Amino acid sequence: MKSNSNGALSSISLSRNDVPAPDKLKALFATNRGVLKKTVQKLAKFNQRQLDDIVHKLHHEAFGFYDCLDCSNCCRSISPAISHNDVEVMAKKLKVRPSDLVGKHLKLDEEGDFVFHTAPCPFIDDDNYCQIYSHRPKACREYPHTDRSRFYQILKLSLKNAEVCPVVYAILMKLA
Ligand code: SF4
Ligand code: SF4
Repeated sequence: MKSNSNGALSSISLSRNDVPAPDKLKALFATNRGVLKKTVQKLAKFNQRQLDDIVHKLHHEAFGFYDCLDCSNCCRSISPAISHNDVEVMAKKLKVRPSDLVGKHLKLDEEGDFVFHTAPCPFIDDDNYCQIYSHRPKACREYPHTDRSRFYQILKLSLKNAEVCPVVYAILMKLA
């Protein structure tokens, strides 16, 4: 962040050109990994409330013009953590027993959370629509988490997400 004055913060904004094409993101992330890491270290020292304000503003700007249907990187490359409640909700939508859903599509990760055992997600279709959208897991609804409060708590996670999500990448690069 170039300045921590309120005026400078409120003038930071994102435009369409700041958000990279999804298929270019991995290479861009590799090139700018050092910059992104330093940005996250710098943001960790920043006023927490102001950090939330600016990140939320950039989040809403970006998702005002950016359509996730043009991307789907998250659904195609990482799995959300899936709770037991998510399993119940998804199974209801799919009209299957929760145990059958678990057996067919889920596994436990090292932290004991259910995750999809394949990537891309089994419920993404060829046009990037989620086949269980209204019943998708909570973590899918909340990804990429750039509108959550206490953003400072997920700075390290956001650095990882910048390799997957063009909007997270754009936000962090804007704050470099
Ligand atoms: S459940 Fe839907 S939103 Fe979640 S990863 Fe799969 S396709 Fe994406
Ligand atoms: S949340 Fe990010 S990674 Fe997922 S589809 Fe939208 S822009 Fe792409």
